[in-house]
Amino acid sequence: MAKKYIIALDQGTTSSRTILFDDTGKICGISQKETEQIYPKHGWVEQNAVEIYQSQLETLHNVMQENDVDFADVLSIGITNQRETTVVWNKHTGEPVYNAIVWQDVRTSKLCKELKADEKLNEYVQQNTGLVIDSYFSATKIKWILDNVPKAKALREKDALLFGTVDTWLLWNLTKGKVHATDYSNASRTMVYNIVNLEWDKNMLAKLDIPASMLPDVKPSSFHFGNCSFDDHVIPISGIAGDQQAALFGQACFLKGETKNTYGTGCFLLMNTGKKPKFSTNGLLTTIAWGLDGEVQYALEGSVFIAGAAIQWLRDGLQLIDHAKDSEYFAKQVKEDSSVYVVPAFAGLGAPYWDMDARGSIFGLTRDTGKNHLIKATLESLAYRSKDLIIAMEEDSGVKLASLKVDGGACANNYLMQFQADILDTKVERAEIIESTALGAAYLAGIGVGLWKKEDILKNRKIQKEFNPKMEEEKRNKLYATWKKAVSRSMNWDD
Ligand code: ADP
Repeated sequence: MAKKYIIALDQGTTSSRTILFDDTGKICGISQKETEQIYPKHGWVEQNAVEIYQSQLETLHNVMQENDVDFADVLSIGITNQRETTVVWNKHTGEPVYNAIVWQDVRTSKLCKELKADEKLNEYVQQNTGLVIDSYFSATKIKWILDNVPKAKALREKDALLFGTVDTWLLWNLTKGKVHATDYSNASRTMVYNIVNLEWDKNMLAKLDIPASMLPDVKPSSFHFGNCSFDDHVIPISGIAGDQQAALFGQACFLKGETKNTYGTGCFLLMNTGKKPKFSTNGLLTTIAWGLDGEVQYALEGSVFIAGAAIQWLRDGLQLIDHAKDSEYFAKQVKEDSSVYVVPAFAGLGAPYWDMDARGSIFGLTRDTGKNHLIKATLESLAYRSKDLIIAMEEDSGVKLASLKVDGGACANNYLMQFQADILDTKVERAEIIESTALGAAYLAGIGVGLWKKEDILKNRKIQKEFNPKMEEEKRNKLYATWKKAVSRSMNWDD
């Protein structure tokens, strides 16, 4: 019998990728295509929505061809995507009324500042959408399009507009305009979805003057969303989740307290907090992890803005290393204890500090400080910032972390992972498949067609390497206390 496959469409901020998994969850092929970033003005970030879909299709066809797989052998498709990015289109023609406004775009920050002035609204937003008022989320991007794009205004009168995050846009196109839906995890990033009642939030829609008729149906993350057809073969689309939630699922963090950290350009930490939303007192976000088996799981989310990006700074800015991976070798050359601290607050500090005026700083320089010390301290800063977030998560959730599951490009760094385990005093587990995002989407899709159960995923999960804490408590406490001192001195710098 021919092998059967699951396809994960992984639509990221800088590229579209398609990953082919076999029915044991093993990767059989990957195809990737970069997408163009458009910067029309300072702070504006857009993408061509049609290009997003076309590039995704191209990588899908490429992966099938390169691996000589027939569409007849594909059991299902799952989608994972850059979150919050906003597309609005004409429901009759499928034509976008404007470019996709990317999550990084800050054109609505003035509006958000105005909204933030209303204390009651801040509280309402947190307690109902789980988020903080910010231009990052879809809501004010939709409003901007409705208020500023003439075509959108005209089509709104005729009730001919549809909104979608990127998953919805891909799904609508793949189903030839038949299905306009999203999943809980993506809906929970819009700032107009009520994560407690599980419905679009009427108050937020009224406040921002967004018509409910343009919003997609919200479904579980593993669900038969609809079908697409390739070479006359009908293939169900049965899994959707936003990228970070998909990674949490791909890392099999199914139980309350289970936590993953993705070390990419930034770090994204998500902790599964179970069946009830936990609202943070430390400025973390509350989000829906996924909907599955008739219920939703919630997560707390925190991010480090500059993580792998600090390693890029060592490479491109300071030119201390040729390749990111060389940072491991140089850090290991320093034999003595840390005295140098780098606070990578290049773009301010997020949770739990929330100081946009903090700036990158280096402390503890002495006459014998050299390049290796700076490299080591920069790597360690990723681990310290992650610990800051984990402490906040433990406080907010009341759950103590049992182990940290890691993925993302920089988790390949053994020095960083050992230091992370040491400074947390917690085991760090590096998964064998570090493509957790695509794996999560594939798992959700596979569950959706009855190929897998959660138990199979747990059994299938292989750890490539485990890092166990070795540091003495006294030393750990001293290092972390000094880190906190360094952070406090980097704050409130840019006035
Ligand atoms: P993204 O998905 O955000 O583009 P990736 O998961 O591909 O990020 O990871 C790339 C980031 O990780 C880069 O910022 C790079 O500097 C960093 N990185 C990659 N490999 C290593 C390594 N071995 N050690 C430290 N940092 C690394």
